[in-house]
Amino acid sequence: IDPKQIRNLSIIAHIDHGKSTLSDRILELTKAVDPREMREQYLDSMDIERERGITIKAQNVRVSWKDHVIHLIDTPGHVDFGYEVSRSLAACEGVVLVVDASQGIEAQTLANCYLAIEHNLEIVAALNKIDLPAADPDRYAAEIDKILGIDKDSILRISAKTGEGVPELLDAIVERIPSPSGSTDAKTQALIFDSYYDQYRGVVSSIRVVNGVLRSGTKIKFMQAQAVHEVEEIGVRLPATTPVSELGPGEVGYLIAGIKDVGEARSGETVTDFNDPAPAPLAGYRDPKPMVFCGLYPVDGDEFSDLRDALTKLKLNDASFTYEPETSQALGFGFRCGFLGLLHMEIVRERLEREFNLNLIATAPSVKYLVYLNGKPDTVEVDNPSELPPVSNIAKIEEPYLKISIITPAEYVGTLMELSQQRRGIMQKMEYISPDRVEMVYRIPLAEVVVDFFDQLKSRTKGYASLDYEADGYQEAELVKLDVLLNGVPVDAFSCIIHRSKAYDHGRKMAQKLRELIPRQLFDVPIQASIGGKVIARETIKARRKDVLAKCYGGDISRKRKLLEKQKEGKKKMKSIGRVEIPQEAFISALKLD
Ligand code: GDP
Ligand code: MG
Repeated sequence: IDPKQIRNLSIIAHIDHGKSTLSDRILELTKAVDPREMREQYLDSMDIERERGITIKAQNVRVSWKDHVIHLIDTPGHVDFGYEVSRSLAACEGVVLVVDASQGIEAQTLANCYLAIEHNLEIVAALNKIDLPAADPDRYAAEIDKILGIDKDSILRISAKTGEGVPELLDAIVERIPSPSGSTDAKTQALIFDSYYDQYRGVVSSIRVVNGVLRSGTKIKFMQAQAVHEVEEIGVRLPATTPVSELGPGEVGYLIAGIKDVGEARSGETVTDFNDPAPAPLAGYRDPKPMVFCGLYPVDGDEFSDLRDALTKLKLNDASFTYEPETSQALGFGFRCGFLGLLHMEIVRERLEREFNLNLIATAPSVKYLVYLNGKPDTVEVDNPSELPPVSNIAKIEEPYLKISIITPAEYVGTLMELSQQRRGIMQKMEYISPDRVEMVYRIPLAEVVVDFFDQLKSRTKGYASLDYEADGYQEAELVKLDVLLNGVPVDAFSCIIHRSKAYDHGRKMAQKLRELIPRQLFDVPIQASIGGKVIARETIKARRKDVLAKCYGGDISRKRKLLEKQKEGKKKMKSIGRVEIPQEAFISALKLD
């Protein structure tokens, strides 16, 4: 295909602003899908995607429009996948920005537009849902103009639902988005921007050829991974997968090369011809780095090996999460897992429970701290409170920070300032993007955001505010390890690293919670929260004698023995910590309440 005829683009939209519906209309208008086979949200494949309305794994599809070939490249819509968004955008020359004409632009969409601008992409903006009575396209066109500098008269007005304006949008794509610039004669360079594992074909990667030609049967080299493979199949998605013999500059398609692990075909990887390699890989490759960590344990200890198998399989499909075995006194055998962000953590957990039929307990999420030791030049990375070195060895601790951007109706500015300040955030910017909507930018510790910041933001603004964030380096803080002790013994699942100003409050709450959850024992049980050996909060579970023998008035010794045996049985389902018998459920509830 002549590159001049090709247009490569991503659709950027906030959740529910109509990206899937617009994709459906485009598939229909370009006759890519037989009307009889058309169903809603055609390109959204995973159950979780449909239910949560987000794209986890990018789909891309080739359609034809008036002698042109358009590749729609799907980008993950969530900030956790920022790097993947960036890789998908690197495969494009332009983006279509879809904004709900009754809602206006949201923080994540804005962040993705800034990414598009950084990649020098052409932005074609469209206000969607103009069929809605509440639509106010003039107002939101002015907003987009003000905040992104896109001329309001150039903004299209469409209804993805009725199809109105969609042909004009396709025309605008062809007119305004530049064609790819690669050359057939240059040495081969193709960008992998997504990979997934298929149980029959192995790894299937989405690729964009940048220079040269990629041919079926060629020996290829992955420049970053330094691995050599052979092209088993290349093809395009129409959207049905259709093998082709070669892909030239600007073309987008898929690659199968007998790879068994998506970790070997990561987003950002450059593929070249083994026998005639390009001198350098394409720019911008980066290993994804987990930011949020937690322990995952099977509720039923017998499911440990099932959990391990499930993690191995899921990892084939998602190279960006990490796991390693860990043991907890309270929860038994499990895994310490790392995720790109909170949503990523939820998705992985949900997929494990759903696709592998497991019942899991997650410990409180943690971040990665940098610990400087006395008299040593290098730092230790700690993402698990139980691995924090003794206080006496620690010179200082640094914690990760985020730069967050919030877009909110002006009436909620006060409550959001309060929330951000409580979470140790420092305001960096506040700007009215339209008379009644405000963008606020804060620098804030990641640890303060991972707990329930997003839920708080939503509930304080009735769902009207949106949030975006990016990593913003490390900073020293007064952090301490808070232990919770039962009958004098620390319970690992409840330890956490926390800012000193919040330790007391947290410790007291934890102790109260546990007092309610743990049944009475035969003796008084102290619950203590302590920092470095110093107790900061204390509760006591009063003794109760569960006297199973009370009902047997003397006499029948064998009946007594039977009852005692039965009581022992019951105790097997309990965990014993510091001689205290605790039902597994108490742990689960205590961890959930956070
Ligand atoms: P996505 O999350 O961006 O993929 O959004 P969807 O395409 O799933 O759309 C979210 C909701 O908005 C769905 O209920 C759609 O039916 C609805 N929707 C999408 N486009 C339009 C439109 O142009 N008009 C109206 N009235 N509803 C729309
Ligand atoms: Mg969608």
